[in-house]
Amino acid sequence: MPPVAFIGVLLALLAGLAIGKAWERYKLQDGQWIDRRRARESPHYMLGLNFLVANQIDPAIGELSKAAHAAGDPLEIHLILGNLFREKGQVGRAIQEHQALLQRPNLRKLEHANVLLCLGLDYKHGGFVDRALEAFTEVLRLDPQNQYALSNLEKIYEEQHQWHDAYATREKLARLSSGSDEPPRHHEILAFLENELGQDALKRKNDAEAARRFEAAIDLDARNTPAYLNLGDVRFYEGNAAGAAAVWEKLIEASPDRAYLAFSRLESAYSTMGAAERFPALCKRLIAANPQDWRARLALARHLSSNGRAADALELLFEALVQNPHALALHQTIWQTLSALDLPRHLVNRYVDITRGAIFYLDPHICIRCRYRSTELLWQCPHCHEWNTFVEERIAPAKEAET
Ligand SMILES: [Zn+2]
Repeated sequence: MPPVAFIGVLLALLAGLAIGKAWERYKLQDGQWIDRRRARESPHYMLGLNFLVANQIDPAIGELSKAAHAAGDPLEIHLILGNLFREKGQVGRAIQEHQALLQRPNLRKLEHANVLLCLGLDYKHGGFVDRALEAFTEVLRLDPQNQYALSNLEKIYEEQHQWHDAYATREKLARLSSGSDEPPRHHEILAFLENELGQDALKRKNDAEAARRFEAAIDLDARNTPAYLNLGDVRFYEGNAAGAAAVWEKLIEASPDRAYLAFSRLESAYSTMGAAERFPALCKRLIAANPQDWRARLALARHLSSNGRAADALELLFEALVQNPHALALHQTIWQTLSALDLPRHLVNRYVDITRGAIFYLDPHICIRCRYRSTELLWQCPHCHEWNTFVEERIAPAKEAET
């Protein structure tokens, strides 16, 4: 079963359960609660739920429709039916089903909110962003604590690049879930949103505000890599190479696994400062701290090559290749270096030996939430829209233990 479909089914069930609770809380005067019990006792209801659990949506719709009809069309079942149409991709029918529920007289506040929530999901699914936004906002007016509406709103704001609104929404979520969820995750996401606000400020050429935003992002989460990169860039373009280098060095301290993102920046900052020797020293420190660090070896090799030390560079590249035989950047640099050395036969043979059996691939970054693959390291997944979920994937660990 595709996970998305399964989640959809669960959501349909949960929405139904939420409505059920609302029902219990506000006993309806017109006898609908009796209808609801009658629906539950109907064999079609149980059959429908069984089909739902088995993710057989069409027969579930059939049975639940019968159960609804037999019990005087209770709101709960029609809410689920609408959600099932949406899951099937029939957004128009889902909207119809849910909109019809809004026309019912005597809708209680919480029921109204739940119907609007489902309608908002229909609109979102169908790409009617403005209407979805309206629906979720209305849900929050009726039920200000509705976390599901808040997180849907946040995602819409993010897609629209309305970072201020996304930030405010995440702050509300953080306040609501203090205690239940782990607070660091909220800080992590707020830091990414703050970083986006900084990038907006950069586009408006407001460097001072941008720098403040990037600093705020780092305060929220000391491991927010893009904020360090951006803050250093601002300092560097201000002509403050030493300040930039200090920021990037902090990044390496906080997240050594992301150090490589600052390599080329640090190399040029050091050389601007007249301290070019600090770059190879940094690479050597990183290699000593983590002998599997192939990126530091690659960076050091490139640095040595450009200083006329191609033979030393090649040794480092071969060591790096043992750590990660799949990295295309390594192979390209090795060929450049071999060419610079006029392709000595014994070195070419060593290269062929090391690479024998290695599998190449171009998209080594993978989202741990939805398995989306990317060539680049991304901060937000374009598929599931989660923040900071990419890890680097290696097909076979190449002598991980050997150091
Ligand atoms: Zn993803």
